[in-house]
Amino acid sequence: MERTLAIIKPDAVERRLAGRIIQRIEEAGFEIRALRRIHLSTKQAEGFYAVHRARPFFASLTAFMASGPAVVLVLEAPDAIKKWRTLMGATDPAKADAGTLRKEFAQSIERNATHGSDAPDTAAVEISYFFAGIDLI
Ligand code: GDP
Repeated sequence: MERTLAIIKPDAVERRLAGRIIQRIEEAGFEIRALRRIHLSTKQAEGFYAVHRARPFFASLTAFMASGPAVVLVLEAPDAIKKWRTLMGATDPAKADAGTLRKEFAQSIERNATHGSDAPDTAAVEISYFFAGIDLI
């Protein structure tokens, strides 16, 4: 079993898509181990995306992530990291495969509905950014 951090980003929460995305998560066979609604401050968004600090879109991305409430989840499944990224689709919805969440729900490369960890070490860091060990028992 593997765990990954998923975020239903502010664009999707604002458009009332959280329920449909959670339904897709459950239908795909993930176990939801933890779930929380959160409205990030700009500082908290900057901390989460610190790895992208030098990218030209950093200020815009962190402002977007702090623009409204998001839903953060810990998903568990065999091969959960890859499985969740496959269900999300490519970062840019124009390049995302048919049937993926981003193809269906994203509005742009930035307002792309969902986040998923990209490797086991980043998943561990990202999960602990939002959830304490006691939340995951
Ligand atoms: P992910 O792992 O698929 O989420 O993609 P990245 O780690 O490369 O980027 C993190 C997030 O930054 C993406 O999910 C987008 O919200 C945003 N992003 C990525 N590339 C761009 C870009 O070229 N322009 C803008 N404005 N945002 C971007």
